[in-house]
Amino acid sequence: MSLAPGATIGIIGGGQLGRMSAMAAARLGFRACIFSPEGFGPASHVAAQTVVAPYTDHGALAEFAASVDVVTFEFENVPADGLELLASLRPVHPSPKILRISQDRLLEKQFLNEAGIATAPWAAVTNEAELTAGLQQLGLPAVLKTTRLGYDGKGQAMLRAGEEAGAAFAALAPKPLVLEGFVDFAAEISVMVARGADGTVTAFDTVENRHKHHILDLTLAPAPLPQTLLAEAGDIARAVAEKLELIGLLGVEMFVTADGRLLVNEIAPRPHNSGHWTIDACPVSQFEMHIRAVAGLPLPPAIRHSDAVMKNLIGPEDMAHWPEILGKPGLIPHHYGKTEARPGRKMGHVTRLFSKGALPGEFGIADALGLDWDETKESGRF
Ligand code: AMP
Repeated sequence: MSLAPGATIGIIGGGQLGRMSAMAAARLGFRACIFSPEGFGPASHVAAQTVVAPYTDHGALAEFAASVDVVTFEFENVPADGLELLASLRPVHPSPKILRISQDRLLEKQFLNEAGIATAPWAAVTNEAELTAGLQQLGLPAVLKTTRLGYDGKGQAMLRAGEEAGAAFAALAPKPLVLEGFVDFAAEISVMVARGADGTVTAFDTVENRHKHHILDLTLAPAPLPQTLLAEAGDIARAVAEKLELIGLLGVEMFVTADGRLLVNEIAPRPHNSGHWTIDACPVSQFEMHIRAVAGLPLPPAIRHSDAVMKNLIGPEDMAHWPEILGKPGLIPHHYGKTEARPGRKMGHVTRLFSKGALPGEFGIADALGLDWDETKESGRF
């Protein structure tokens, strides 16, 4: 089914990903209806309508479903029974099956490994004996993570020595956990891939992501890595989309190991922070691709017309540079309309475009944006 202009796209979640999806929907003539526990978040500013209720409120979910033509997500952690309810009332893209896999690190790794896609070595942990056995199997260092509801480094602990295991387990239990072998990665990369209802699959170019305090700081598009690796990452993302029979958009985060192997860390069936550069560097952005896929419109190839650097604007520190950013020709500012710049909060981003092939491989924020910023760089490593 292909939706005509005037139709309403229901978006679960009211943050910046919903905001940018609603803006893309509006450009195609659609209305957006947001479902969010928060009445006036970033997505609601630009949407036709918002249903304000907790994700567990089935009455409100049913009311929301009745007012939209299709349901999609910018927020993945809707409880499973809520998803069932939505899916019984309206088409839900990506499907609840895909959301369930992406909500749970164990299901995610099982799915990936069964599909022949490599991940870090892992072991399920529900008690301290399993943690001890897991550490024997995987060795140190290792990373202990909650299987659900972790993001931006939350819900995880690095284990460097055996003595740290007890405290880490106590801090994260009784939630189900997964132990991962530590990956001494050379780079973190990601690919945004879309698949339409007709089976068309298209992937944006592979990008490199650099983190600061576990939060994405810079994305370089394309990743300054060998072409063969970039192509291999694209193939992995397309394979994930096909195996999942995805309808919608999906981000695939990967580690590049020192010896040039690719290990998938996470999949996210929604627009992704590492795809924000596509708004300015591609004729069809990740958000438009997402809306096109869920609305049953044709998916054009994910073409990139420029190289790009995207810098997240996080908390009051980065927002102090907002006037400077506005005054600098060539910088493309994006503000999410959040009123309070709390530390660690994603407030906006800024993109700078380069001619294709002109993106320098190694540089800091000042080179990237042409601004005189604090150059302290920290990788995503623990
Ligand atoms: P995640 O919540 O799984 O995306 O992890 C957040 C960040 O922690 C990643 O972007 C990596 O920088 C780091 N990280 C997560 N898992 C591992 C691992 N197994 N080995 C090394 N670094 C990791």
